Amino acid sequence: MIPKQKVIEFENKKIIVNEGLTCPACSSDMNISYTAENIPHFGKTHFIGYACTKCNYKNTELIPVDEKEPIEQSVKIENEKELSIKIVRGTDTTLEIKEVGISLEPGARASAFYTNIEGVLQRFKGSVLSMQRYYKILESEAKSDNERKEIKLVQKKLIDKEKKLNRYIDGKAPFTLILRAEKGYGKVLSPKAKNLLKKPKKTNKMANKKK
Ligand SMILES: [Zn+2]
Repeated sequence: MIPKQKVIEFENKKIIVNEGLTCPACSSDMNISYTAENIPHFGKTHFIGYACTKCNYKNTELIPVDEKEPIEQSVKIENEKELSIKIVRGTDTTLEIKEVGISLEPGARASAFYTNIEGVLQRFKGSVLSMQRYYKILESEAKSDNERKEIKLVQKKLIDKEKKLNRYIDGKAPFTLILRAEKGYGKVLSPKAKNLLKKPKKTNKMANKKK
């Protein structure tokens, strides 16, 4: 599905936002609000907030003022203190923790945020908890023992994920967070983050040549 696009002018700069004025959930009118914030080590960034006037639908887009390059990083979090490492997540950004088998995928409906590693873990935990509620409903509606067994297996995995995330949130176990941002709208704001994309020695000239 192609998201609706709209050009808005903000602080003398034209920016394209990925949604129109109607709510994707109920088609009612949406209120749009803009703010700009200077994020240290990332730069000036526009935040565009959408809020439906009828239902609870809310979304945030984040658009850096300056052009960015694609980014791929990993950061190993080894203690409680490192949970306060800041992170920017735009609508192009995937976040993944392989140890848990969990990821937050990009997309037009993906909400952008500026938070720290603990905030990311809380979001992951929130999605695991909502999956648990969903499977609880499925369990109550299961029509056979086999079906129930399969649901139980998933539930067990979800509980394992929740336990792991709780240990990370408490700073009791190390883990690695991976960030991929196609347009560079996301970044781990720490010198500890490793860059996973190899930079070409000469920009542009080499890009179109095939070996
Ligand atoms: Zn709505």
